Amino acid sequence: MPPLVDHHCHGVARSALDAAAFESFLTESDAPAAPGTTSFDTQLGFAMRRWCPPLLGLEPHCPPAHYLARRRELGPAVVTRRLLRATGIAVYLVDTGPRGGPGPGPGPGPGDLTPAQELAALGGATAREIVRLELLAEDAADATRTAESFLDGLAEAVRGAARTAAGFKSVIAYRYGLDFAPGPPGPGEVREAARRWLAGRAPGGRLTDPVLLRHLLWSAAGTGLPLQLHTGFGDPDVTLHRADPLLLTDFVRAVRPTGCPLILLHGYPYHRSAAYLASAYPHVYADVGLALSHAGARAGAVLAEVLELVPFGKLLFSTDAYGLPELYVVGARLFREALTGLLAGWTAAGAWSHGDAARVAAMICADNARRVYRLEM
Ligand SMILES: [Zn+2]
Repeated sequence: MPPLVDHHCHGVARSALDAAAFESFLTESDAPAAPGTTSFDTQLGFAMRRWCPPLLGLEPHCPPAHYLARRRELGPAVVTRRLLRATGIAVYLVDTGPRGGPGPGPGPGPGDLTPAQELAALGGATAREIVRLELLAEDAADATRTAESFLDGLAEAVRGAARTAAGFKSVIAYRYGLDFAPGPPGPGEVREAARRWLAGRAPGGRLTDPVLLRHLLWSAAGTGLPLQLHTGFGDPDVTLHRADPLLLTDFVRAVRPTGCPLILLHGYPYHRSAAYLASAYPHVYADVGLALSHAGARAGAVLAEVLELVPFGKLLFSTDAYGLPELYVVGARLFREALTGLLAGWTAAGAWSHGDAARVAAMICADNARRVYRLEM
């Protein structure tokens, strides 16, 4: 299979992680595993133990404690280089948020996650940034007190990001829900919302105002760059039934005349809804990266469900890896195994030709992302 373009991923922790911190990256939950249980006992945990130990000179499925001991012995820089270079990923499109949590959880501290170019260097690959819209607004708010200067600063930040970024990302699914009013808010409404938000905001406060969140979406749509939207499952900040991509239908219709490509991330368990939207609307694309990693041995089943309806030029590979280089290995291996297995079955049954199977594999692995994000690398 060809080299991969990972169109949605995050930095990895620079510092050594203890067992609790490592385990915290194997779940979307914000809490340690329930008493008497471990996050290693999940499809993702088992996939990690299948694919990663051999890359560090251990037997597949060795006990987590052996793996973590070997990891400590080698140190984070060696482990990260070795794992990333085994993924076959040639291009990383790195989400600029989160930047590493403020603590007190076991995750990486502020600034401990590798930025895009550092990740690329470790992986022997290239990288571009996907700019998180809500962070642009929060940074602009930190820099000013008045609504007018905030909105000017934000407009300049969006324009500036558009000059170098490969795309934008919104987490409106987390901050509000996907059941937002579909049209662009008017200028008066935006100014009033900015005034209200800034007046009640503590420094570093998160943006949850639906008018400003919509203003961000429409500002990004105006740049012509692809816009990624979180949909489906994620950490407990998301109210899952309000993250069904079908709730975006009116927004999808409203934004269509701008030509802005919309890329629906994650999707699960609504990945069939995302596949439907991608089939019905020319500017909509789908991704199931995070779902494949968490589905582990069932990744082939999830991928098969997306491929029931999604046009083959509309599905993009990603790992959604975050924090651990292991998640890059798992995301890439599960995807390749799942796709290879499905294509082998369909060609053996005579449903697909070998030539078409190879062509579609190249599209999903890399060509679709290169076209949508206009990558020249
Ligand atoms: Zn992500």
